[in-house]
Amino acid sequence: MAFRKNPRTLLLKTTALAAVAAFIQGCAQTPAQQPPSEATIAAHVAAATRDAGTDLAPLLALCKPAPAAQPPQAELDRGLKALIDKPAPPPGMAFDNLYFVGADWVSAWAIKTSDGIILIDALNNQMEAAALIEGGMRRLGLDPAQIRYVVVTHGHGDHYGGAPYLAQKYGARVVMSEADWTMTETKLEFATPVWGAPPKRGAGDVSVKDGDRLVLGDTTVTLYITPGHTMGTISPVFDVTANGQKHRAMLWGGTAFNFGKNVPRLGSYIDATRRMGSVAQAQKIDVLVSNHSGYDGSQGKLAALRQQPASAANPFVIGTPAVSRALNVMGECAQAQRDRFVLQ
Ligand SMILES: [Zn+2]
Repeated sequence: MAFRKNPRTLLLKTTALAAVAAFIQGCAQTPAQQPPSEATIAAHVAAATRDAGTDLAPLLALCKPAPAAQPPQAELDRGLKALIDKPAPPPGMAFDNLYFVGADWVSAWAIKTSDGIILIDALNNQMEAAALIEGGMRRLGLDPAQIRYVVVTHGHGDHYGGAPYLAQKYGARVVMSEADWTMTETKLEFATPVWGAPPKRGAGDVSVKDGDRLVLGDTTVTLYITPGHTMGTISPVFDVTANGQKHRAMLWGGTAFNFGKNVPRLGSYIDATRRMGSVAQAQKIDVLVSNHSGYDGSQGKLAALRQQPASAANPFVIGTPAVSRALNVMGECAQAQRDRFVLQ
């Protein structure tokens, strides 16, 4: 009977905790029940601005009105080419086991494990994968031949463009959500000649379900599906260490609202930020990184790390309250945008 009693106790405790969490979240967020109006939009933007403070101000870019339609193809091609043409920052070591090997606009991260490397995202194309991922790894003392998995956070070419090259060269397995595999196999949401072709799903490649764990050597990466930016965006959660001290990191896998007027999709995004806010609290996640350095300030943080003594505090460790605030900012901006679209 003890077998039966314990789960009930656990359930009650979980319910009570959930109620407390909902209460706290309710305090932090603006009321969602009011019909959309200019006033609710302003309230969501104000809440985001308050939560962002100065440390998370770059995330407020999300609160600017998003376009109701995708840009014309020529404009998209031109805009992306200009972003890709920017000179890349130097690669860098954010943690003992987490390395930045990205471009200026879009990031790629390498997690070093005892049995090889998990690469998160593969940049725009083969040229960048060779110069910035392979080249960056070598500069940091990592061997690209050790790449075992390429986790593609979502099915846009700035994240998968270099994946086929790395998969083919090193036999790395490509990891993507089923929704985004399907998107890249059927109809791409965005296409542009500056991106490499999407990876072709091979026998060893992986289709991720929410909460799946990717285990390599001593490292476990939990892959959460956080729909919104794409419907199969993956946000990986994993341990990192700095000066021997363990921290827990989340990589938010897709940030911008660049999909045009789509109210349900913003609803999914809002739900994902709330859910991952609970995950951040439960797992005491104190590091939040992005796959675009404009959102997480990773280039400035890496520059600071290069200059400061090894014993100084790691600027990537922002603390669980700041991780929660960041998710609130994204959620509030998504609510503002949802209200704008409803009113259009
Ligand atoms: Zn994207």
